[in-house]
Amino acid sequence: MKQLTEQKECDRCKKATNIFTMSWFNEDFICMTCNDEEEKHPDFEFAKNVEVAYTRRGNMNYPGVGYPGKDGRISEELKQALIEELGL
Ligand SMILES: [Zn+2]
Repeated sequence: MKQLTEQKECDRCKKATNIFTMSWFNEDFICMTCNDEEEKHPDFEFAKNVEVAYTRRGNMNYPGVGYPGKDGRISEELKQALIEELGL
């Protein structure tokens, strides 16, 4: 049986850890340090709203808006397109 506490590398910072969470931006499994950083990202709420909106529509496989990097931002074009599509 596969253990959930298995030590693995964080997809984002590559540090070995055994506590993971799924990113709201993409399909990365990230450590708690990266998770804290992600929650402070200015586009975090938007990424989360998009994910929730897709899930509500029954799309469980939406890969996320993409992580723009700690100092990056989601492009305005993508934002506008998603706001229109999802009625955010
Ligand atoms: Zn990490």
